[in-house]
Amino acid sequence: MGGQIVIVGAGLAGLVCARKLRNAGKNVLLMDKADRPGGRMRTDPIDGFRVDRGFQVLFTAYPNADRELVYEDLDLQEFLPGARVLWEGKFHEIRRDDPISMALSSFIPTSDKLRTASLNLELGARSIGHVWQGQDQPALEMLVSRGFSQQFIDRFARPFFGGVFLDRNLEGSANMMQFVWKMLNEGDTVLPALGIEEVPRQVFADLPEDCFQGECEVVSVSGGTTPSVKLSNGDLIEAEAVVVATDSESASKLTGLPLPTEFKSSITVSFAADARPVEEPVIVLNGDFPGRVNHVIAMSAVSPALAPQGRELVSATILGVSDKSDVALAADVRYELAQWFPGKNVRQWSPLRVDRILKAQLVQSPGFFASRPSNETRLEGVFLASECTENGSIDGAALSGVKCAEAVLARSAVASS
Ligand SMILES: Cc1cc2nc3c(=O)[nH]c(=O)nc-3n(C[C@H](O)[C@H](O)[C@H](O)COP(=O)(O)OP(=O)(O)OC[C@H]3O[C@@H](n4cnc5c(N)ncnc54)[C@H](O)[C@@H]3O)c2cc1C
Repeated sequence: MGGQIVIVGAGLAGLVCARKLRNAGKNVLLMDKADRPGGRMRTDPIDGFRVDRGFQVLFTAYPNADRELVYEDLDLQEFLPGARVLWEGKFHEIRRDDPISMALSSFIPTSDKLRTASLNLELGARSIGHVWQGQDQPALEMLVSRGFSQQFIDRFARPFFGGVFLDRNLEGSANMMQFVWKMLNEGDTVLPALGIEEVPRQVFADLPEDCFQGECEVVSVSGGTTPSVKLSNGDLIEAEAVVVATDSESASKLTGLPLPTEFKSSITVSFAADARPVEEPVIVLNGDFPGRVNHVIAMSAVSPALAPQGRELVSATILGVSDKSDVALAADVRYELAQWFPGKNVRQWSPLRVDRILKAQLVQSPGFFASRPSNETRLEGVFLASECTENGSIDGAALSGVKCAEAVLARSAVASS
């Protein structure tokens, strides 16, 4: 078998898979309905700003991202390790790197500080494999069963992990929360200086440009001795193997396979400002403030390269969806943030873009890991490279790409032996 391998979807999983197959001497064709590779990790230039499509971060402790990326070349910019929480009209610091001020602060009860330290130690001693193998339950239940107080849950866990998983109810997998908790503790939270799209761009840079075909929608995938994909223009392309590297809902539609199809949605409103609402590269959380914004970041405090000289870029994220128009939503968010940051001239901020991301985070209910799909499907010659075969994260997508390429190469080796 010496034909080409068609990869449908050029997000991180598809790109990592393509690179591994190319390095093994395979001919690959990446097809994506979007105009460029990168999938859900996108950064667009707007009026001299660089705007990420939704707020996302990289954890340097991610083992598979670390293996697949050259961190040194991404010019990674660090966030402060912690958060600033708006609670009863005041900001409160939660800082992992400042145990003395944490010890003195009464915002989080002492018993929760001890429980946090104990969970840190426990997760530090466990491998990632052990974290995934542990008995799973809803994240909220895990916190309650470990004795964390309602204050800790409401003041920190809901806004912080609610922002990570786009769910303040914390109904998702406790093992996923523990994985993220471990990653937060064992490395830095960072963003490439030029935005999140630099991550997939780095992988794509190792591939020949002509192996990518953009604005090319695949409408169905068939398995068999000669697997194939059908394009929206009616063309049929046969291949040695087909890798479906779309989001899992599209993958399920394309293949008819039962794959996870539920996603949490979010809306990010990006603003151009004359001054930062906060000077530091810190995530600012909505503790108990009425209104809809969950977290706000002065993105240009994280990386000045994201805004033109003398201007600042601010990103505010709402969980879920909204029927309001972009103009009305941006006005609501600005009104709300003027109350978060009085004296910061928020009413002068100009909206740059409203990103409504329907498929932002894969819903990962308790037990998802044990029942996640494999990279091999029951369709002959059709493989899956997607966060859904591991976990919904940059790390999960990278690992899935690697494992999928290994599965394709193993089939190819069997066929040619
Ligand atoms: C707002 C947001 C915040 C996030 N925050 C974080 C975070 O802080 N940390 C973290 O680790 N992860 C985060 N993530 C998750 C992370 O971005 C994803 O896990 C990862 O990008 C998934 O990669 P993927 O390759 O599996 O899928 P995708 O990136 O979804 O790639 C799939 C590709 O398939 C293409 N496609 C779909 N259907 C078709 C079709 N029919 N024909 C052709 N092409 C098709 C799409 O255009 C897309 O390019 C976040 C995601 C979002 C959106």
